[in-house]
Amino acid sequence: MQADGAIIYAAGNPALYPLEYYDPESGTYQGSIPEFLAQFAREHGYDLRYLAPGPEDRRADLADSLQVDLISGSLTGEAYAHTAGEPIVLFSGESGGRETACLLHLTTAAPERLGVELRAYAARTGQTAWVGELLASAGEAPAPALSPGMLWGAAAAFTLLLAALAAAVCGWLRARRLAARAELTDPETGLGTDAALEQAFSRLARDQSRRAYCLICIRLDLDRIGRLWGQERAAELLTYSAGVLREHTGDGDVPVRSGSGDLLVLKRFLAVREAQDWATAVVEEIRGFPFAGGELPLRDVSAGVCPLEMEYLDLARAVFHARQCAMAAGREERECRLCGTDRCRICQERWKLLTDFRKGLEREEFQLCLQFFVDARTFRIVGGETLSRWKHPRLGLLGPDRYIPDLEGDGRISALDLFGLERTCAFLEDLDRQGIRDFFLSCNFSRRTFAAPDFARRCIEIIGRHSFARKLLILEVTETQQIDRREAAQMLDNILRIRRQGARVIFDDFGMGFSSFHDLQDYPMDGLKLDKELVDNMGTERGRIILRALVDTGHRMGMTILAEGVENEEQIQLLQDLRCDVLQGFRFSVPLPAEEARKRILEEIRPGADRNSGGGTKR
Ligand code: C2E
Ligand code: CA
Ligand code: CA
Repeated sequence: MQADGAIIYAAGNPALYPLEYYDPESGTYQGSIPEFLAQFAREHGYDLRYLAPGPEDRRADLADSLQVDLISGSLTGEAYAHTAGEPIVLFSGESGGRETACLLHLTTAAPERLGVELRAYAARTGQTAWVGELLASAGEAPAPALSPGMLWGAAAAFTLLLAALAAAVCGWLRARRLAARAELTDPETGLGTDAALEQAFSRLARDQSRRAYCLICIRLDLDRIGRLWGQERAAELLTYSAGVLREHTGDGDVPVRSGSGDLLVLKRFLAVREAQDWATAVVEEIRGFPFAGGELPLRDVSAGVCPLEMEYLDLARAVFHARQCAMAAGREERECRLCGTDRCRICQERWKLLTDFRKGLEREEFQLCLQFFVDARTFRIVGGETLSRWKHPRLGLLGPDRYIPDLEGDGRISALDLFGLERTCAFLEDLDRQGIRDFFLSCNFSRRTFAAPDFARRCIEIIGRHSFARKLLILEVTETQQIDRREAAQMLDNILRIRRQGARVIFDDFGMGFSSFHDLQDYPMDGLKLDKELVDNMGTERGRIILRALVDTGHRMGMTILAEGVENEEQIQLLQDLRCDVLQGFRFSVPLPAEEARKRILEEIRPGADRNSGGGTKR
């Protein structure tokens, strides 16, 4: 948790060399305790200052007058006025049969949160870390030379222990700094990482001039470029763009790579206009990347500028906005879009929705609808697909297009997908109890959800809680998100494990993305659902040729072919000619609330119901 730059005052020990001592040259306290505290402050967003550093030990009077939050560098036996709670033990050692500890005291002026966080931080560092590092470094690093004038007047043995510990602590801090630095640099581009941005942003939180900064997102559609021109070319573009960004940034700017193709920059500007010009120039230069198809189109590279106004205290929120604006700019074929414009109100609303999501799921605000599938020859209802709706307390009933894309972008989608699975299984179990054992039901999964390492396990666990014939459950996997090679291997494994349970797995929106034929090669599926766009294009000769090829290929591979978005007679006729197996679309039924769908199923499919009377459809 970040403390938004609260200033914390500490009283230091000028003579606990080398743990904490006054350095006349710099006029500050130095040593491993000040380093330890500085690191704590950096990581927790505090501004820690030693009050009135000097050669004289002023800790007792600073504590008396309650001017400080923290008394540093004290040892067992030292007592101060106005202390709060037990002192924090940094480490303890034994000398001459006497246990002595190095401590920090909190005063009653300290905010409660500081105590909690500092205790946790010290505990994490732990005695083993201080002493363990001491042992490890004992062989390599000599303890710092003791300056006789600065020797703390305790038993020499304990002083040596302290000195050795101090050396260890210095080494430990150095190692941590190095590790932190590695996490702060993206190996592929040499730019910073999200962690670097977070660190810079938390420093900025307490900077008065924070509002002079903008967060800029330069979005590269590497997925699309990779699919069209190959992964190598996409990687070259990324390196090239990182180079452009480095040229346009200087000291004090923070350029980082975030996600696969987003470049984010935290940079100070004199005016928002200047930030827009800067972003436009960067986009223009990136578009100059030597490219087979001429200049890179704006839909593949564009920028969003988010000035750090008051409401963007939260980094995730500023990033969301900058990203949304960059995407909007791409869609509008402009170089750059500024947050805070009219369009941006929509993105404020979307951010709010995204943050409402968990609560909505817990409060059961999500509901299921069911849209029927019919047999392509008889038009009988043979199954259905569950689709989610969000009954939002403030905004009313929301369709999936209002929340799915942002949930997918954010990774929260899997919680909704698994919720959908649970409800779908419960529905099937209910039908089973009613004696209906030939109605199949499908539910939707984003590809990312499907490619997660624990997906098959969680899925099998959910299915296992319900009793119904497994073959009636169909999992639809969409193509909206690209996954990498490692995820693809995981997805294959998940598909195999789920199919082994008896459930079926099909591709949704098939033919919409670029990887359809690869997918057929890579994954053993039970069926394909042809995308609505393909069905819409059936009016043209080319559209029909493509569709015929897909249906033939699918059939030859032993798959069931479904078509979605069927709206008129011509489409039905053609899909029948192509020998498509199952149809879904407004022509037959709109998505119905689950309870209403249940009633219809019971009326029309229950054994003994006359299935020829209405054909089960609204034709
Ligand atoms: P989808 O899976 O491709 O679902 C079909 C969408 O097309 C549904 O929209 C449906 O109402 C609509 N549709 C069906 N027949 C017709 C037709 O004849 N004409 C037209 N114009 N549209 C038709 P809906 O319910 O708005 O769902 C949109 C998308 O949201 C779905 O696309 C599905 O991929 C996604 N979705 C819904 N619930 C979930 C969920 O729980 N998880 C995931 N990952 N995605 C979901
Ligand atoms: Ca679907
Ligand atoms: Ca679709």
